Formats: sequence, structure tokens, C-alpha cells
Amino acid sequence: TLTILGSINADHVISVPHFAKPGETLTGHHYHIAYGGKGANQAVAAARLSDEHTQVNFIGCIGDDDLGRTMKNAFEQDGINTQFIHQIAHQTTGIAMIQVAASGENSIVISAGANGCLDENIVEQSRSQIEQADLLLMQLETPLPAVIKAAQIAKNNGVKVVLNPAPAQKLPDELLANLNMITPNETEAEILTGVKVTDLESAVKSAEIFHQKGIETVLITLGSKGVFVSHQGQQEIVAGFKVNAVDTTAAGDTFNGAFLIALLDGKPLQDAIRFAHVAAAISVTREGAQPSIPTRAETLDFLKS
Ligand code: ADP
Repeated sequence: TLTILGSINADHVISVPHFAKPGETLTGHHYHIAYGGKGANQAVAAARLSDEHTQVNFIGCIGDDDLGRTMKNAFEQDGINTQFIHQIAHQTTGIAMIQVAASGENSIVISAGANGCLDENIVEQSRSQIEQADLLLMQLETPLPAVIKAAQIAKNNGVKVVLNPAPAQKLPDELLANLNMITPNETEAEILTGVKVTDLESAVKSAEIFHQKGIETVLITLGSKGVFVSHQGQQEIVAGFKVNAVDTTAAGDTFNGAFLIALLDGKPLQDAIRFAHVAAAISVTREGAQPSIPTRAETLDFLKS
């Protein structure tokens, strides 16, 4: 069993010729809603990439609105156990308003909504899903106190804790000490350790700082270059797969969900990384967050070819 705790967001995306100036009314095109949120993306990845033996639980918050209920239904369709998706009264579901300019740049405004309500109380109400899990996966798009508390509950019950520290923020040692694994990208690793990760040597330095805080396994994702892994004195870069990237949104989320499913399947670290690289590589060949995440069958087919 994998339990994921984190954010649920709907991205409202519109293409614009240029960003609207103050007072300007602009006509956009290609408006669509794409389901995202790091917690939800990772849960969807885990569910699509798991076989029938692994249960994926998701602890998160939606608002009291149709959007939230529709998203919750979609998670169920993907095979996620949604029993502990809490609907928060008088709140809206988390959203992002994204303008994509013709130049390719984007401009994003976020409303945390129900995600901001994922507090220690919600964690307490969801305790059974943490205690029963083999692994707990979290990110930093929901308030930190709940992440700290969930990690503590997991640790007390022998559940391994994995943190994808995104978006990066400074973290207290009491949280770091309860983590078994951390999966930052290069930017996040730099913010958390102060070491700019540019090559193997700097990655080793950054990982050492995480190890000193008590974290056994450090994975630094390197975009198209793959991932740096440091575990029990072994340190190496495992290259990713070359694909024609069109949209890297949710690449890291797909990687994290896939990687943990592969570990729960009993795969050794390197094989689990390869499986996650394939899933993430497929996701970057497609547009959007959750729509881009492949299934287990697609991923296994790619591995065979
Ligand atoms: P994040 O999305 O969190 O910034 P990264 O950009 O480091 O994470 O990417 C995470 C993983 O996604 C990589 O380790 C790799 O497996 C895959 N990936 C990302 N970008 C590409 C790419 N251009 N081509 C192939 N795989 C990619």
C-alpha cells in the first residue's frame, strides 16, 4: 500500500498573444481545464502505473464545488482510494490560472483554496491510511505542519517516508530526521542544501548534507539528464531516456509515483529508477499534467521496445 498526501489543483489554461496589461481586455484561445496539483499528479501516476496488488490511497482536500467532486470521481476512475479526500465546507477547490503567451512563457496565479486546509486535524482524521501504508509520499504544496505530523505518525508506525520537496522551502530538522528518502530536482536540492548541483561531484556534496540529517536515500532528478542517486555509500547518475519533449509538466510527479510503485513491486533501486524514467519520459512527450501520465501497460511496452 502506498499512501500519498498532498495538493489537488485544477489548472485553467488559456493561450494569449501576450500577457494582459493592467486595464486591458484580451481575447485568448484554446481555453481548457487540466487536472494537476503535485499530490494529485503523483497519486494518479502511482495508480496508473501499479498492478492490482498495490493499493494507492490519497489524502487531500477539495472544496465544496462541482470541480472538486468531478476531480474526485476522476481519481476513482484511475483506481485511487479516495475515502480520505476531504471535502471542505465553504472552500473552493485549489486552482491555478495560467496564461500561456505566444512567446512560450507562462504567467500563473494560484488560489490554494481547500489545499490550504490540509492541517494537522485532517492528518489526525486520516491516521489509519498512514499507519496501514508501506510507504508515505508527500510534497510541499500543502501546509508544512500537516506534512511534519504525517511523517511523525509514519515513523512511529514503521512506515517509510518519501518527500518530494517541491516547491522548495527550508525544512526543520525534525521533519528531515523522519524521512527515509528525499527526491528534489536540482533547484530544490540547491535551496535545501546550499550546494549548486551541476555535475556528479556537486550532487555527491549535496546528498551528503541530506545524509547527515538522517536520510538514507537521496535521489536528485536532473531533467533530461536523468537522476543522481546516493544510497548506502553508492553514488551514480542513472541516465534517462531520449524522447521528443513537448511539455515537461508533471515529469517529476510521474517519476515519483512510478518510482515508488516499482519499489513496492520489489524492484531493486536501479530497475525502479529505469521504470520511473520510462514513465516520466512518456509524460514529457504529451501535453498537460494528469492527461500526460502513462499507464503501466504503456510503460512496460516502451521498456520492451
Ligand atoms: P521536475 O519536473 O520535478 O523539475 P525533472 O525535470 O528533474 O523534475 O524531471 C524528472 C524526471 O523526468 C527525470 O529524472 C526524467 O526521468 C524525466 N524527464 C524530465 N525531462 C525530460 C526530458 N526532456 N526527456 C526525458 N525525460 C525527462
